[in-house]
Amino acid sequence: MRRMRNVKIVATLGPASNDYEMIRKLHEAGADVFRLNMSHGDHAEIKVRHEIIRQVEKDLDSPIAILADLQGPKLRVGTFAKGEEELVEGAAFRLDLDDAEGDVTRVRLPHPEIFAALEVGAHLLVNDGKIRLKVTACGADFADCEVIAGGTISNRKGVNVPDVVLPLAALSDKDRADLEFVCQLGVDWLALSFVQRREDVEEARTLTRGRAAILSKIEKPAAVKAFEEILEASDGIMVARGDLGVELPVQNVPPIQKQLVRKCRAAAKPVIVATQMLESMIESPMPTRAEVSDVATAIYEGTDAIMLSAESAAGNYPIEAVTTMNNVAVEVEGDPTYQDIIEASRTAKRTSIADGIVAAAREIAETTDVKAICCFTQSGTTALLTARERPRVPIIALTPLMGTARRLCMSWGTNVTLTGEVERFKMAVVGAARAARILGLAEETDQIVVTAGVPFNVTGSTNILRVAPCEERLIFRTDPE
Ligand code: PGA
Ligand code: MN
Repeated sequence: MRRMRNVKIVATLGPASNDYEMIRKLHEAGADVFRLNMSHGDHAEIKVRHEIIRQVEKDLDSPIAILADLQGPKLRVGTFAKGEEELVEGAAFRLDLDDAEGDVTRVRLPHPEIFAALEVGAHLLVNDGKIRLKVTACGADFADCEVIAGGTISNRKGVNVPDVVLPLAALSDKDRADLEFVCQLGVDWLALSFVQRREDVEEARTLTRGRAAILSKIEKPAAVKAFEEILEASDGIMVARGDLGVELPVQNVPPIQKQLVRKCRAAAKPVIVATQMLESMIESPMPTRAEVSDVATAIYEGTDAIMLSAESAAGNYPIEAVTTMNNVAVEVEGDPTYQDIIEASRTAKRTSIADGIVAAAREIAETTDVKAICCFTQSGTTALLTARERPRVPIIALTPLMGTARRLCMSWGTNVTLTGEVERFKMAVVGAARAARILGLAEETDQIVVTAGVPFNVTGSTNILRVAPCEERLIFRTDPE
């Protein structure tokens, strides 16, 4: 599916986007990646959605990335005898391991390891931070708290503990079961929630056994602190602003977003900016001006992808939300200021032959009127390096591997095309020119840049750059075997 923009759109699927018609329309409207949220929906439902996406992919002959998002170690309180209670500021409230149903003085928090890690003075945030508790005393099986900000607490509400690195396994038993399930279904990206340290990513990678790329969601202060090592261990990042804005003061989120987007680009790893991007569109066909501005800001920052959560999963206007993102992207990317910002924030990192080749390809695109940069890639690395350059012309990634093609659907500016195994350079150029013409990015009379590695079909061998005509007769006449 040819897009008129560089930034990619991730749409979360849910009850509002369950059937073939809707998923196909979402893809046609602009969704490049579909997110399956393992916090909602049982395995049977997830399997149906997965099958539909693959059917749409086949029917439209257009690779689609599937991102499975694991719930992670989300803490929840137990239940209340009355279903809910009103906590008032200044009151005492106890969390403990007692099985009995809760009341206005206490509730169960079924995570013994949390009590061991808590300290006096630590804050507990309940229900997305609406209720704030401060620990006044704690032991192996309880924490006495003072209610700092009151509100209604009800059954199984989520609890965040921002001040403490929790001794929690990164993957719960449910996460392990979900991981194996989605890997067997076949997903391209696996997102990890509440990552705190490098080891969390490594553990998931061991279990994944190369069946999916790993995306770490940054939504804890500990993850922000350990970001460099988490980025190094991951294939991609999500700026998960929902939980991040609960765990940290909300005003800290925008600078963190800016810093993470930049660091991910420098590392040539895709980054998603997520949550509440068009929140009001859950209920309304029209976004607020502030939301449009938020989407635009993420695009100006050079993010690889922007994401819809409830807007596409449970809202009344999923198609309108995708269309809005698409329209904002087209407008922003057509603004000369966008080009200036993107070029000014490029990091010079030249350590390999491939780095040099992708930089040269980008410079050629700046100084001549080539229409596309076509890169042959096995693992996807050369395409990722090309995307890091944020060139002025579209990138076409050509790969014989469907997994690589799908994963690259999340990368900035990258169009993907499946090719057969390439044996000779001349045929590679012919294939690239053909792909550029089929995608509508170049005409017979145009020129393109082709990068490839000889020997062919070997990872990490990019060593050729050719400026080639799109006309096959010319390629055959001029190109070496
Ligand atoms: P979630 O993650 O939607 O799975 O909570 C995103 C976020 O926290 O922003
Ligand atoms: Mn989250």
